[in-house]
Amino acid sequence: MTERLYYDDAYLWQFDGTVVAAREEKGSWVALDRSAFYPTSGGQPYDTGFLTAGGERVPVTDVEVDREGVVWHRVEKRIPEGTPVHGEIDGERRRDHMEQHGGEHMLAGAIWEKLGGTTIGLHLGQEDSSIDVALPDGRTHLTEEETAALEDLVNGRIRQDAPIRCWFPSEEELKTLPLRKAPTVTEHVRVVAMGDFEMVACGGTHPASTGRIGQIKIISAIPSKGKVRVSFVCGQRAERLFRQCMRSAHKAGNVLSCPMDRLASAAGELKARLAEAERKVNRFETERILTEIRKNEERESLKDVGLSVTLLAEGEARPVSEAVSRYIAEAGKVLLLCAGERLTFARSVDVDIDMNQLIRRVGRGGGRPDLASGAGIPQCAEVARKILVTEGKGRTWRRKI
Ligand SMILES: [Zn+2]
Repeated sequence: MTERLYYDDAYLWQFDGTVVAAREEKGSWVALDRSAFYPTSGGQPYDTGFLTAGGERVPVTDVEVDREGVVWHRVEKRIPEGTPVHGEIDGERRRDHMEQHGGEHMLAGAIWEKLGGTTIGLHLGQEDSSIDVALPDGRTHLTEEETAALEDLVNGRIRQDAPIRCWFPSEEELKTLPLRKAPTVTEHVRVVAMGDFEMVACGGTHPASTGRIGQIKIISAIPSKGKVRVSFVCGQRAERLFRQCMRSAHKAGNVLSCPMDRLASAAGELKARLAEAERKVNRFETERILTEIRKNEERESLKDVGLSVTLLAEGEARPVSEAVSRYIAEAGKVLLLCAGERLTFARSVDVDIDMNQLIRRVGRGGGRPDLASGAGIPQCAEVARKILVTEGKGRTWRRKI
């Protein structure tokens, strides 16, 4: 079993030890007699850093703990058993992890105290962290007020800068401790107490006091698999997020020419104006396409029927379909339309042509006897016209309805 130096001092960034075992498995791994490197566990990711052996600084790129409690370090270069090493931990990375992990404890404690919610697992991500919360009433969301109240409560307690203590209590002492939830291990139970706000079993690394968590910011509380997934950031991540939000808000304010507190209503007004403008453009476009369809209408090709072969470079789906509907609403109309790479074959109710069959003969697609659509090129419409003109010579197209 490795002596875990971070149990006693979570701010120990440098230490000395000796390699007691080495193995090769997807890289080189070494176990030390003592280590301050934290192995991935309890939702907190591993530490990175260096092991210096024989004057050479070897990067540590992963740390794991096995069932026997031996901490294994993946190193970029093989270090043989028996080698004395000097370890250096990436303190920035660890401090960040401790801020998120410490904040998670405080948040979980506050959720339990205020809402009776139990938390399951911690996911400490690259950007933000999250916990899944089971609420006693089975709700899968938190109200804005609840989120704000939790944030205020935790930040107030962070500002109190209460000491955070970690220790291994005796079996007798453990029975008397008011833990928030039952420990998942039965032996060597380590307890963390954060002021008198939170007490729970945990083997992780924690800041020395609540003040060193800095602050917490809840980002979202959304339903996830029957629970509430609460995402948050703490410490320096919260500072960065705030800076980022302010920059975005300033930029958006400049674009919309309004102060920050009016961003939502200004964006809403803009959206409404855009929708109105789109309606106008669509109306205009529908008229333009309809004019084009009418201009292309031939009266001589099919007896008693107006035939329009219309080729458009491209067209928004809505005005095209509106123009088509309006054209075939008139009696005795046949339309073979190609807009971009989209075919629309349509006819009035009183015309005896199966457009579904016709479009299948010249391109890919289908639909109803009166209206069919699909993919194709302008030549498809031309070919369809030829078929109608050639095969329908002398026949009557109109039918009584
Ligand atoms: Zn912990």
